Amino acid sequence: MAANTEMPKAGQDYPKNWSQFLEWFHSEDACREYLNNLRWPGGFVCPKCGTAAKPCRSTRGRLMCLHCKAQTTVTAGTIFDKTRTELRVWFAGIWYITNQKHGISALGLQRVLGLGSYETAWTMLHRLRRAMVRPGRDLLHGKVEVDESYLSISDRKSPISPVGRKSNTSKVLVAIAVEMLQPKGFGRIRIRQIREGDHESLIPFIQETIQPDSLIHSDGSPAYRNLEELGYHHRRTVHLGSDIPAHESMPGVHRVAALLQRWLLGTHHGAVQPGQLDYYLDEFVFRFNRRTSRSRGLLFYRLLQQAVTTSPVTYGDVVAPSIADS
Ligand SMILES: [Zn+2]
Repeated sequence: MAANTEMPKAGQDYPKNWSQFLEWFHSEDACREYLNNLRWPGGFVCPKCGTAAKPCRSTRGRLMCLHCKAQTTVTAGTIFDKTRTELRVWFAGIWYITNQKHGISALGLQRVLGLGSYETAWTMLHRLRRAMVRPGRDLLHGKVEVDESYLSISDRKSPISPVGRKSNTSKVLVAIAVEMLQPKGFGRIRIRQIREGDHESLIPFIQETIQPDSLIHSDGSPAYRNLEELGYHHRRTVHLGSDIPAHESMPGVHRVAALLQRWLLGTHHGAVQPGQLDYYLDEFVFRFNRRTSRSRGLLFYRLLQQAVTTSPVTYGDVVAPSIADS
């Protein structure tokens, strides 16, 4: 299997459809073998001493480095680390998630996979969201719209909320960047939760997500004042007192904000805790940026590939808020 070619082939590197999926991933060993190829496309490399040589294989997928004798598994040091859920279930979950246009809630995943607990489904989804950001991904470039937008979320833990319990709806601010294609259409996006729509929040977002020399289109806020000093071209549209409504002058950001809000309310019933929001944003961005991908199997392959190169997260890490909720 040529697992690391730039454009993997359907039916050769990843299953074309569900029946092929079932055929390929019929056992834990088959899943492990597939992960082996994704994690070490050029052959096994010992994570401890770095020796690249065929390992000694023992039961239950243990691999032993013949040089330093360290033992490892293909899942150690990845998001599957120490999971008690079978790889077959993980694979089915990933297939399902990447095949749903709008993703799936933890409750939906629990049902479709027949999982015993809601927490298992919830933890799977959250671990996978960690794998949705490819390390070292390219910065946006070209003409890029940047603006802030408020999202409504509720702090309910799950869509099944005890009768009569009121949930707290809150507004959170996010920064959105959208590549604008010529002559029309949207390219890739980035979104991040920010504390305020000020210079201190927006400039790091821009510098970490957009390539210098790009043309940034923003509103007239003073937060964007020194973009040119930072190596960007800058075009402002001042909304105040203007006849042009914001959704017309910043169509990309407004479209993405509307889709994002609809996704949070639809798939997740708006039930997202503010400390977890960034991971939902990562999932939204992952889907949006791959929306034109013709093959869902390819998405499965990409997510699995990122999953074996993403560090493990424990249930504790997942539950801990990603930003200090002060
Ligand atoms: Zn070794």
